[in-house]
Amino acid sequence: MLLPLAYYGNPVLRKKATQIEKIDDSIRQLAADMIETMHATNGIGLAATQIAQLLSIFVTCVPIAQEDGSWIEGKDRVFINPKILTYSQEFHVFSEGCLSIPKLFANVARPERIKIQAMDLEGHTFEETMTGYEATNFMHENDHLNGVLFIDRLERKERKKIEPILQQIKKKYALKN
Ligand SMILES: [Zn+2]
Repeated sequence: MLLPLAYYGNPVLRKKATQIEKIDDSIRQLAADMIETMHATNGIGLAATQIAQLLSIFVTCVPIAQEDGSWIEGKDRVFINPKILTYSQEFHVFSEGCLSIPKLFANVARPERIKIQAMDLEGHTFEETMTGYEATNFMHENDHLNGVLFIDRLERKERKKIEPILQQIKKKYALKN
């Protein structure tokens, strides 16, 4: 089932998600619906706060870079109660966009490498090291669960530059929120 997205200006995007205590059928259904919604909107990540569910879960499908510079489609993943355990000192910059802030892209600097912990749909807790685009994607989605948007991570000058666009988006999507 496709889920309606919350857009920039909707206060739910600024709320914090709560931990999921038990993985039951409703959570499994939510994850399936989130994956469906992510693909239907051509996203590579979707956090529960973006569909107005204040639960600590996000889904991703990050493209994988090939040696020849091309990209292939990644696989669907579900992260429940995610946590970032460590961050590298080195940063990298990727152009980020967000399903909740349509058509706006901006460069964001984030740690190059992170160690994460999360639970899968079977209830198993796992740890993993992520780098590059995958790490950026994880941090972007994890931010959503804390009410943080990628535009909050822009340099002040850049943030100021896009303010008029943000106001337009807010106006345009006010009725959908
Ligand atoms: Zn986003």
